[in-house]
Amino acid sequence: LDIKNEDLRKLADLGQGNGGSVVKVEHEPTGTIMAKKIVLIDAKSSVRKQILRELQIMHDCHSEYIISCYGSFLAEPNICMCIEYMDKGSFDGIYRKIGAIDINVVCLVAHSVLEGLTYLYDVHRIIHRDIKPSNILLNSEGSIKLCDFGVSGELINSIANTFVGTSVYMSPERIQGAEYSIKSDIWSLGITLIELATGRFPLCDISVDDDDLSDLDEDRESEFDSHNKTPTHRDSIFGFNKKANRRLSKRVDSTLQHEDAVNSMSIIELMHQIVREPAPRLGEQFGEEAEEFVDACLAKDPHERHTPKTLLEYRWMDDARDSTFDVKAWAATF
Ligand code: ATP
Ligand code: MG
Repeated sequence: LDIKNEDLRKLADLGQGNGGSVVKVEHEPTGTIMAKKIVLIDAKSSVRKQILRELQIMHDCHSEYIISCYGSFLAEPNICMCIEYMDKGSFDGIYRKIGAIDINVVCLVAHSVLEGLTYLYDVHRIIHRDIKPSNILLNSEGSIKLCDFGVSGELINSIANTFVGTSVYMSPERIQGAEYSIKSDIWSLGITLIELATGRFPLCDISVDDDDLSDLDEDRESEFDSHNKTPTHRDSIFGFNKKANRRLSKRVDSTLQHEDAVNSMSIIELMHQIVREPAPRLGEQFGEEAEEFVDACLAKDPHERHTPKTLLEYRWMDDARDSTFDVKAWAATF
């Protein structure tokens, strides 16, 4: 399918990320509904062509766990990628809308992500590099698929925003400068699963004691002022108010859009904590199998952390394979 920009009619905005924006479009010649991802790049023309060549790999990705791609083209100064439209959106939007995700669904998310990662790595030697709720999509058929994987090294290098690739889902070893490996994706998966199961980003509250409060900026302090000033247990410092926590998670993400070192202080502090503190855990209320699985994802030492292949052998993934949970019916409830 040779897609031209002028054949695409915009239907709606789907969202905005650090690297660009996504719109829902109709490809008028065929009537196909697509998601068009627009990325502003800063690269010379030879590099742009190289990026387009690299993006070709996306066309060769055929897996039920990976978003399919219709075509990519340059629309100066942007690169556009037309990908499969997923009508239920991404899991960050879903849990913000409906709250914590049913653990049966989280189990299937874990399974789909592992299958997707295994496919990308075994067939194309690609590491995803950006596993997080906003890159896991759902459609009303109940399919769960991965998007935004690192097919193009040149694209990653050329995205105009220099903070792209820095994320709060980053593994301790990545924060310390190690190369990406498939195990970094597994760490990000572990964080993602806790976030979905509990309905909140798990890292904002790792052992924040009174000393750390001095690091809080005015904005967050005023959030404390307007609410309970003395949270009763340490976990609740950011968790006592769901809305405030959500706002903070959002802030943490949006902080990445600025190169302003001052604004990034809280992010840097968070990254220190990821390296320093014990990894978060799922909690036993979700069942032993789930807890054991997430612990295996969040081993701080990458040598102890599991690979997608060995994680697929975990008991919780047997539950996923045997699952009779009706995701399609569940997706119809929101
Ligand atoms: P970041 O830029 O930090 O990776 P992000 O993943 O939210 O954040 P984008 O990848 O630009 O940013 O996506 C923006 C939003 O568009 C997503 O949160 C998702 O909800 C929506 N979206 C992306 N791809 C699709 C798709 N194929 N179908 C439906 N919605 C999509
Ligand atoms: Mg994305």
